[in-house]
Amino acid sequence: MSDKTTKEIVLEGINASPGICIGKAYLVDKEGVDIISRYPIPKAQVTNELKRFKAAVKKARDELRAIIENTPDDFRQQTSILETQEVLIKDKLLYGKTIAVIEQECVNAEWALKKVVSHLKSIFQEMADPYLRERASDVVNLADRIMRNLVGAKQLNIDKIDKRVILVARDLSPAETSQIRLEKIKGFITDKGGKTSHTGIIARTLEIPAVVAAGDATATIKNDDLIILDGITGTVINHPSESTLVKYEQRRVRYERQKAAINRRSRLPAKTLDGQSVKVLGNIELPEEVVAVVNYGGDGIGLYRTEFQYMSRPRFPDEDELYDKYSDVVQVMAPKPVTIRTLDINGDKAISAENGFNEVNPALGLRGIRYCLQRPEVFRTQLRAILRAAVFGKVQIMFPMVAIQREVVQAKKALEEAAASLAKEGVPFNDNLEIGVLIEVPSAVIMADAIAEEADFFSIGTNDLIQYTLAIDRNNKNVAHLFRALDPAILRMLKHITDVAGQKNVKVFICGEMASDPIHTPILLGLGINELSMNPQAIPTIKQMIRSINISDTKPLVEEALKLKSADKIFALLRDTYGDVLSEFNRTDTGARTGVKKKTRRKGAKRKA
Ligand code: PEP
Ligand code: MG
Repeated sequence: MSDKTTKEIVLEGINASPGICIGKAYLVDKEGVDIISRYPIPKAQVTNELKRFKAAVKKARDELRAIIENTPDDFRQQTSILETQEVLIKDKLLYGKTIAVIEQECVNAEWALKKVVSHLKSIFQEMADPYLRERASDVVNLADRIMRNLVGAKQLNIDKIDKRVILVARDLSPAETSQIRLEKIKGFITDKGGKTSHTGIIARTLEIPAVVAAGDATATIKNDDLIILDGITGTVINHPSESTLVKYEQRRVRYERQKAAINRRSRLPAKTLDGQSVKVLGNIELPEEVVAVVNYGGDGIGLYRTEFQYMSRPRFPDEDELYDKYSDVVQVMAPKPVTIRTLDINGDKAISAENGFNEVNPALGLRGIRYCLQRPEVFRTQLRAILRAAVFGKVQIMFPMVAIQREVVQAKKALEEAAASLAKEGVPFNDNLEIGVLIEVPSAVIMADAIAEEADFFSIGTNDLIQYTLAIDRNNKNVAHLFRALDPAILRMLKHITDVAGQKNVKVFICGEMASDPIHTPILLGLGINELSMNPQAIPTIKQMIRSINISDTKPLVEEALKLKSADKIFALLRDTYGDVLSEFNRTDTGARTGVKKKTRRKGAKRKA
């Protein structure tokens, strides 16, 4: 609470996941080891200090070896950076010099190492050869590892935090976020990030209130500070005053009550006022989340992001492990459908930071289906597991990041081969699956007619489609203001996809975050999309929105929207048409809000752009 010395500070960020929480801050300071002080070592203790340094170096070398050896063969090429560091570890420039400084200056090992590294950094950085200049980062990373061992700092392991705290970090990777469990962490705040970054998506699925892109939260907030996190408006309040605390506590209770009221109606079918049935499904990242989809009245799983089972672990899962997880999900949902998306690894979901895929431009790199087609053994393992799990219910398969028709042809061939291998071995499987393509790359939109010839359904991935169409990194807060699902360019693309799907008799669904915001629902229904998949907690709100719409009104609305030239104008059209209905959801916001504050907003429910 604020007193005379601590003033209330308000930080504005992006509302990544709804909910309000009040609690103590827990700072995740990945760069904490930078704060190193110098202290003298008595001459008689220098030998001990040297031993301490050598032990930290040995530990660093053992850690590097373990990571290299535990990296799946498939990712071995990515360990070259670590191998370089392993070679550098006993280099006389780093190791020898640090020992010399400890001996000559009689100082602590941390200080000696820091001094040597900053000297080396300046030498490397002055070199003309870019390759040698880059080696500076190898030295720094290696020195960080040794330093962590010297000061006894731990690498970030969220799973080990066991207080009910609000996490404050510069950034969290999707893998780190997926380790968060509600019983340990009330919410999180990051300096960086965007709304449809995978970190934000996971927070919504796990129902953890979150604010991302909160500027310099890590510089402003200190450990144990009392903070309020409002994930509905994207506001963070440090050192709240007594009256602010009371206001937010009331707001929190009101939010929970409203959410509960909407959730109570989640089992009712999603039927428009004029009788059109719409399917509302859930997106999941981990098998356990299937329970949330069932509880929120979902009509199935429209997107199972399977890559999280490959992350934060030294080895890729084997076929039996995948089969177990997939069959659990399929059995819980049966007879409702489960759409399993094949591995969408890389991009912002490299298997781990340490053996991370070192691409200059990962969003445009070896991601999704491109990766799978280049690693047939990894792909085959997953396809066999999916085919086996399909025995237990209705499974659909979907390929991510498709840019050209041939990728679908090749992926289908791999699926056929996987089925043939199971048949040969006499293993039970079901290959009577519908095959879908995630439409999330602009070339796939343009070539939708050709891709339709190879697919039973399209599912529109607006998160990436917006990223690639408008050239906006979905994780970059500096361009987050341009990330608008209602941008006319996106609307025209959706229109093209749905038109082509209609002509080619291919079903069309949506599983991008656009589907989770009720303001988009009339547009999506008007385009003829009648299967929407989203983070599970958004399901009740979207169902209620559908129950408030006349489908017959939505087609003319789309026609009108398509004539408009800006996202603001399209947003205003929707707000003016559906403002009254939408005001119901003000405090139970669920997802990818597009960015203009609503006229009909209720007092006190400020929404962040
Ligand atoms: C998308 O891109 O819209 C999508 C659904 O996939 P992901 O968010 O996992 O990239
Ligand atoms: Mg995508």
